[in-house]
Amino acid sequence: ENYHAVLTENRKLFNELQELKGNIRVFCRVRPFLPGQGAPNTVVEYVGEDGELVVTNPTRPGKDGLRQFKFNKVYSPTATQAEVFSDIRPLVRSVLDGYNVCIFAYGQTGSGKTYTMSGPDGSSKEDWGVNYRALNDLFKISQSRKGNISYEVGVQMVEIYNEQVLDLLSDDNSQKKYPFVLNPGILSTTQQNGLAVPDASMYPVTSTSDVITLMDIGLQNRAVGSTALNERSSRSHSIVTVHVRGKDLKTGSVLYGNLHLVDLAGSERVDRSEVTGDRLREAQHINKSLSSLGDVIFSLASKSSHVPYRNSKLTQLLQTSLGGRAKTLMFVQLNPDATSYSESMSTLKFAERVSGVELGAAKTSK
Ligand code: ADP
Repeated sequence: ENYHAVLTENRKLFNELQELKGNIRVFCRVRPFLPGQGAPNTVVEYVGEDGELVVTNPTRPGKDGLRQFKFNKVYSPTATQAEVFSDIRPLVRSVLDGYNVCIFAYGQTGSGKTYTMSGPDGSSKEDWGVNYRALNDLFKISQSRKGNISYEVGVQMVEIYNEQVLDLLSDDNSQKKYPFVLNPGILSTTQQNGLAVPDASMYPVTSTSDVITLMDIGLQNRAVGSTALNERSSRSHSIVTVHVRGKDLKTGSVLYGNLHLVDLAGSERVDRSEVTGDRLREAQHINKSLSSLGDVIFSLASKSSHVPYRNSKLTQLLQTSLGGRAKTLMFVQLNPDATSYSESMSTLKFAERVSGVELGAAKTSK
């Protein structure tokens, strides 16, 4: 009976995976206007079911100001967290079959990166972002396969700030709030599959509530040393890595998969004439790592023979999970407000380059 259930589930999974052709996907998500922000003046002209997006230049009304983009998917501001997750579920599940998956959120500060990845502050289950939903799903499926495959799951959480990698779950700064014993050796065999951060603490997890506890600690540690969490988090990349080791109980063979969930630093351009010192240094580091990430994904998408992983800490760290059999998804986040038009355009141009599809001036609309 059990075997039959697994087969059926795998077949479904296979069909879902078939639909996700290619290894690099770009999904664009437009966030809604927030209450109390004045009269909404949107740049989003059209969102198509097939991934078409048309934006309008607020200073050039009419046909000339229209630009058309095409991504694997575009979400209108009304899309729910559940809808978004249902589209990426097959990708997340493939980790349990031994794939490496990276999911990024890219966009200017305030465009909804953290909302998509984690959800709003103190969110209820309904508002959960990709992180919690992904882990929840992984645990559910691993339970359902219990009789056939035994899974172990471990979580790491790091931050890259000014090209330095910081362990957000280090025993030193987590004030020992985590109830489990730190056991970095638990999944040491994942090294065969490329361990993301060799020196960062890894915790074994067996339930979604373990993960919530860990992420809370990580978030607290992220805030240390900065006046406001928002300020700091917009200038650093945060990476949650989920390592999975599955042992087939009949054959004894072992598979490894990992999932990287990356909330990138804000992509907004900083006016060099206006910042100096620390802010300038931060801005330069962010610029460099985001453009290196763009270069790497573009090289992979265009099947270039040289992939420039070495140009930033971010791409070095994720090297084994970008390219090859690994699957990459980038959420490109947009603030629809007319005042953000030029930032949105630079976000969309980045996304266009990454996806390898450039359309330019809108030929069709609506
Ligand atoms: P970022 O991480 O890019 O700086 P946030 O995720 O913090 O942006 O989003 C900025 C604000 O917009 C937050 O108050 C967040 O709750 C809200 N927000 C973002 N996306 C959505 C959405 N899809 N639905 C409702 N509110 C959203």
